[in-house]
Amino acid sequence: MTEPTEEHLKKAEAEYRNLYGRAPTPEALRKWATNLANGVVDTLETPEESGLRLRKAARDQGLPEDALSPDWTGECMLCGSSPIMPATGMCGPCTFGEADTINGNW
Ligand SMILES: [Zn+2]
Repeated sequence: MTEPTEEHLKKAEAEYRNLYGRAPTPEALRKWATNLANGVVDTLETPEESGLRLRKAARDQGLPEDALSPDWTGECMLCGSSPIMPATGMCGPCTFGEADTINGNW
């Protein structure tokens, strides 16, 4: 395990801000910089980070903030499952074609 350098920390902070639209917590910055230093790509988002990323992605696309976040009150127009992604009106598996996205896991 390689320790992150100052350069890794700077790069990690910039990437985190770009993805989540806010400064990383010290723990998140440490995790990201360590991943960068070791060439690890998996960020293992917390549910809060996932929500931040989805809201930023929706804003970037000119959609309402919750358009990409799981909506547990809706039913998929194709298969009737919940939750759905409001932007598509479909559940995760029907939107992405990936069974792993069931239960709002996107
Ligand atoms: Zn569906």
